[in-house]
Amino acid sequence: MSPSVEDLLAAGFAMGGERVVALDLVDTKILAMDPPVDLIETPEQLAKWWEIQEVRLPAGPVPDGTAVRRLRTAVRDVLDSHLAGRLPLPTSVEDINAAAAAAPQSLRMVVMGDELQAETRWHPEYGGNAALALIARQTIELMADAGRLATLRRCANPNCSMLFLAEHKRRQWCVGSVCGNRARVARHYQKSKRS
Ligand SMILES: [Zn+2]
Repeated sequence: MSPSVEDLLAAGFAMGGERVVALDLVDTKILAMDPPVDLIETPEQLAKWWEIQEVRLPAGPVPDGTAVRRLRTAVRDVLDSHLAGRLPLPTSVEDINAAAAAAPQSLRMVVMGDELQAETRWHPEYGGNAALALIARQTIELMADAGRLATLRRCANPNCSMLFLAEHKRRQWCVGSVCGNRARVARHYQKSKRS
């Protein structure tokens, strides 16, 4: 289960509802503004974002804001570097690996009714945060999956920094009703100016 983009927009965020939490996390910083706007800058904003994302994160406390922003910077660098056709900073790779390793996971067998099922258990007892470990792990899996990585895009609006995974080829905008709409208005304006 994922929160919808409407949930995030309604709570004051610019974007979200991507199938990968790591993407939603990088999109909490509006880089296309000068200076960039951090939408999870205060503990209250972070707690609000976390509460929306909680349904798809392992249970645990809201991590420290500094750790969240550090992982976000690393994930953004890795994704941006891919889009730019270069390698990310070694520190970004290290930060992601450290977050992933800080809370390992194991597979366990549980009895559900009259059958056995597999369940993932996170191990925050080593001091790490399981949710950050999941976000780091998702990033590693995405970077290693050429097919999914090929769908990584930056919003077609030059004044928008949002990243997303295009689930269909035609998707160009982060949020069609926001950036797509702006582009449609601009095209209409250009056309009416020419005629
Ligand atoms: Zn956009």
